[in-house]
Amino acid sequence: MAGLAIQQVTKQFGDHRAVNDLSLEIAPGEFVALLGPSGCGKTTMLRMLAGFENVTGGEIRLNDTLLASRHQHMPPEQRNMAMVFQSYALWPHMNVADNVGYPLKLRRIQGSEYQRRVAHALAQVALEPYAQRSPQELSGGQRQRVALARCLVTDPAVVLLDEPLANLDRNLRASMEHSFVDFHRRTHATMVYVTHDQSEAMAMADRIAVMRDGELVQWATPETLYREPRSEWVASFIGQGSQLAIANGAPGQRLTESALMQGLAAAHSTQPARQPVLVRPEHIRVDTQAPNQHDLTGRVERLTFRGERYELHLRLPSGEALLAYHHCALEEGQQVALRLLEGWCLEPDQ
Ligand code: ATP
Repeated sequence: MAGLAIQQVTKQFGDHRAVNDLSLEIAPGEFVALLGPSGCGKTTMLRMLAGFENVTGGEIRLNDTLLASRHQHMPPEQRNMAMVFQSYALWPHMNVADNVGYPLKLRRIQGSEYQRRVAHALAQVALEPYAQRSPQELSGGQRQRVALARCLVTDPAVVLLDEPLANLDRNLRASMEHSFVDFHRRTHATMVYVTHDQSEAMAMADRIAVMRDGELVQWATPETLYREPRSEWVASFIGQGSQLAIANGAPGQRLTESALMQGLAAAHSTQPARQPVLVRPEHIRVDTQAPNQHDLTGRVERLTFRGERYELHLRLPSGEALLAYHHCALEEGQQVALRLLEGWCLEPDQ
């Protein structure tokens, strides 16, 4: 079991700082996602863990072993880690079994030990019947499972995954998410998974490191990120919701439905103190009965059918936009009453 300690790591490319002073303690056996928008430095961080990039500053340790610092760089093949790439990176001229066994050949493992480990790795990703096929005869999901088996065959302490599902369609992604979680439960490998897709990170990871512009902005469980985002930016990056700017509010103040209504009514006056709050769509109940004068109301501006529900894009009398869900279709232009449910308000710290 291997824990990873990333201490104040920085990576500079010329005058661009791709990763800035990033610290993370990853527990042995933990499944961690590095999540953030394109260009925020996730892949660079992963490549520094793997040893494909050196660090400009800071240190990376695997248990008590120093892997990287400004003065030291352990080569990738000595790190007991394996990496799965978005592009699969399979050899086209080798069949599935030979692709999976390739890292063993590099380590001069042969004979029955070689056969046993290849068979075991293929079984872990349910690809035994495909052992003799060439990669071109496989679907994208099957190719990605070959890449995963190839990474498992050496029994690495840490598995690094760089957007491994990015090339797959939506259904296949969901089934591969199960495969990764299953694999993690069976092997207890420490896993670091890079993605820009928040739903993918939330579905699989024990903890998520949210990155922005090379910096760590929050490091927490998926539930905490969703319910207690540290900043407005995290709140809008994780899950859906509407940002409302209300007047008369003070940060940390417990908001009520009536305070929200008063605050929104005053939001476009000259009040200087405007407080951002985030309301998730699942915390709003839409009532199509004729609203009374005390109700918070909204006008349906647009309706999007999502299969299991409709998304309503509402406009409040204060001018603010609000996203809500409803189980059946409504008319565009219709006025509805809105009720806020328990736990409706997220107030970011910053
Ligand atoms: P994506 O999701 O698009 O892959 P990312 O979060 O993984 O993005 P990185 O690939 O880590 O981002 O890149 C972070 C920043 O560092 C980007 O601005 C990128 O242009 C820059 N960068 C990455 N590699 C190099 C390099 N070898 N030389 C110069 N700049 C680089």
